[in-house]
Amino acid sequence: MNLLFPFRAVARLGLLALSLGLPLLAAAATVVVDTGHTPQHPGAHGPDGQAEYGFNLRLSDAVSRRLREAGIAVTRVSADGREIELQQRTQVNPQADLFVSIHHDSIQQAWIDAGRRGEFKGYALFVSEKNPRASDSLRCAEHLGQQMRDIGETPSLYHATPIAGEDRPLLNPALGIHRFDDLVVLKTATMPAVLIEAGVIANPAEESRLAQPDTVERLAGAMARGIALCLAPPPHPPDTPTRTPP
Ligand SMILES: [Zn+2]
Repeated sequence: MNLLFPFRAVARLGLLALSLGLPLLAAAATVVVDTGHTPQHPGAHGPDGQAEYGFNLRLSDAVSRRLREAGIAVTRVSADGREIELQQRTQVNPQADLFVSIHHDSIQQAWIDAGRRGEFKGYALFVSEKNPRASDSLRCAEHLGQQMRDIGETPSLYHATPIAGEDRPLLNPALGIHRFDDLVVLKTATMPAVLIEAGVIANPAEESRLAQPDTVERLAGAMARGIALCLAPPPHPPDTPTRTPP
């Protein structure tokens, strides 16, 4: 059963509302917005000491707000500060139409030790072939990547470096989409699922830029548009020409 189908008309309206900056009250499609990590286990740290969870929460808040304004229902995961296991995150709302996990990136410790923090910037998208809706997941990642490119963000691509701990196959280098089959939230989700590393907080200039409210709002706008496009119906096929009687 294609769970996206009944919601596509409303998602299309949501996309229109997002593009016009207008609120829309009708809600139908549901997106799980998963804030990566928890306050107790906050993930990566930037050189200025800021923890990843705070970046993830600010961006998740902004994405969720924009989706709700566009009439798309949102289930928040890990926004309340409580501990939650990776496997539990995808079980919070199994009926949702899409699962999006929001993170911020670090780099290999060896690169940090070598003084290379400033070399790395940009976003990265991940999908899993073990997700039962892998092709829909990839389609959603393509919309997210395109919207990030359209606001001038660039893919980081370093997760494809052929070294231990990286070496992720690139499915779409132009849009920064990687295959990472065993990412727990992607493979345990029963709905299409995408994980985004929105930027590299290991880079001091990026840590500062990604903390700015206007950067958060720009990224959130792109992500909300990408999500709405993913849920919207494909363009109508051309009408079948009617045969004119001789
Ligand atoms: Zn993370």
